[in-house]
Amino acid sequence: MRKILILDDAQSMRSLLAVTLKSLGFTVVEAEDGIDGLAKLKQNPDVVMIITDLNMPKKNGVEFIRDVKADPSFKTIPIVMLTTESEEAKKNEGKAAGAMAWIVKPFKVDNIQTVIKKIIG
Ligand SMILES: [Mg+2]
Repeated sequence: MRKILILDDAQSMRSLLAVTLKSLGFTVVEAEDGIDGLAKLKQNPDVVMIITDLNMPKKNGVEFIRDVKADPSFKTIPIVMLTTESEEAKKNEGKAAGAMAWIVKPFKVDNIQTVIKKIIG
């Protein structure tokens, strides 16, 4: 099964996303911030896609995206941002850092499925 790494500091959001992605047939690895996300990525180099929150303690989503894109082993993994409507500036920073798409919270299952299909088929 293909593996997706998800990052969010809110446990409720991680659970909701994990349940959704599992229902779509993916294996899920969870991380609670950008530092944890990089550690989990190193432990799971077979991740096919990353979905990351932007506002997180320790290392935020934009910083995390920059780190992933700067690492030759991981830079080709597609990254999707999880944003809220009010995070337009952050979203633009995320795009500039290399994120391919975004999902607005609160998300719908259909929305997630469409984005995933577009990105990894
Ligand atoms: Mg957050």
